[in-house]
Amino acid sequence: MEVIIVKANSDCFRKCLSNLTNDVEDRLRSSLRILSNPFSFGYSDIQTGYQLKAIAAKLSADAEMMACNALKGVVQYINALGDTDEVVLLDAERYSNYDILCWNNALRGKLEHHNPVEVYHYMQIDLPQKCFPRHNILFFADLGYEQYLGEPDKSKRVCRFCNSQGPGIFGDKKDSHAISWFLGNDALFCLEECKTCNNTFGRTIENALSSYYQYYRAAERRKSRKGKPLTARGFNYEMLADGGLRYYASASTDNILKVGDRIPEDGILIHLNNKEPVVLHDIYRVLVKYVVACVPNEMLPAFQTTIKWIRGEKHPSKGALPPVYRVETLDEVQKPSLCIYVRKDDKKDLPYCVGELRFMENLYVFAVPYCKGRDVMNSCLAEPLSRFIMQRYPDMTFTVENFCDDEEKMIVNHVKIGGNENAVVMPLHSLQ
Ligand SMILES: [Zn+2]
Repeated sequence: MEVIIVKANSDCFRKCLSNLTNDVEDRLRSSLRILSNPFSFGYSDIQTGYQLKAIAAKLSADAEMMACNALKGVVQYINALGDTDEVVLLDAERYSNYDILCWNNALRGKLEHHNPVEVYHYMQIDLPQKCFPRHNILFFADLGYEQYLGEPDKSKRVCRFCNSQGPGIFGDKKDSHAISWFLGNDALFCLEECKTCNNTFGRTIENALSSYYQYYRAAERRKSRKGKPLTARGFNYEMLADGGLRYYASASTDNILKVGDRIPEDGILIHLNNKEPVVLHDIYRVLVKYVVACVPNEMLPAFQTTIKWIRGEKHPSKGALPPVYRVETLDEVQKPSLCIYVRKDDKKDLPYCVGELRFMENLYVFAVPYCKGRDVMNSCLAEPLSRFIMQRYPDMTFTVENFCDDEEKMIVNHVKIGGNENAVVMPLHSLQ
């Protein structure tokens, strides 16, 4: 038995309770309210920390008696809840990641005085019926506990990207992040990516996305793998709660402002050049690579030509791929998520597979190209994609861009930083 505890505005907790005797499992199910049907839900499914702690006190004795560490772990988590915290407990086998997201949003909605049952109902039933009635949704995200996608047994495992197999070709189970680590994913891993592919993608297409967002990652206080704050082009800044600003620069920076300079009251315009040029086509490839890393194995045959394109073995003629839709001004998310929409029917008027990646303040929506037999030709896929976008996001304004361009481009972002009368440029090494 596996149980997931969902809490608003926080990581979920997941625990496998193995080696429980049947009567203890029955006892657990009867004393804790563990939901087992995503389509049956109500207000009473939400439990408070106070209610749960009373039950946990009794379970704690069972855990001691059986020396069951997994059960102790659950009790410990429950005891750490605040009395007014509200959670739901789910039977892990019955709930998809999307169901967990629905509960997460419902609990968050309750904190904002919405009816959580209505929020849950909207996400489970109304939204799919209205906005993507002909697609199934698969949802992937770092939910706070480790998830491993693909075959757990190394001797049976095949790399999704190069078809090689054999236990020696795969690294540690945490080597290959299904969505890149630098976007904030620390818990979702794809087991079926070999060491060679992992290295190659890291050096090429993932590096393209990483350098594309280098400055933003730095400005959002993200840290390097060694826990050091990232910097970009020798400077960084942080906005303070009182509306003020702290601006940091390294001693050697060739930037407009130097350490000790006063920041002009009318603000300054900074031109953020990336260190390395970026190929937009590589970014499209890495977006689709995340889809391939996440989907269940039975979908992989549809993507065999797509994978060749991701590997750089297939070159579309210029402009032959559908555009990529993006919005860069959403509320910030700490952890990335990937929704994959898979068409249920055979009609090609909508794309077979659409990916929706959210990270930081960005939303990218893109069609997975080269799904031969399931889609119209790549060069005609723009229209089905546009139809899907209008249906799925009727009220959203996107930037629509051609990501089928192999030219190296220096990306320059112009950022206006507001003035502040007392702000002085501080040395970069004082950045925490
Ligand atoms: Zn491989």
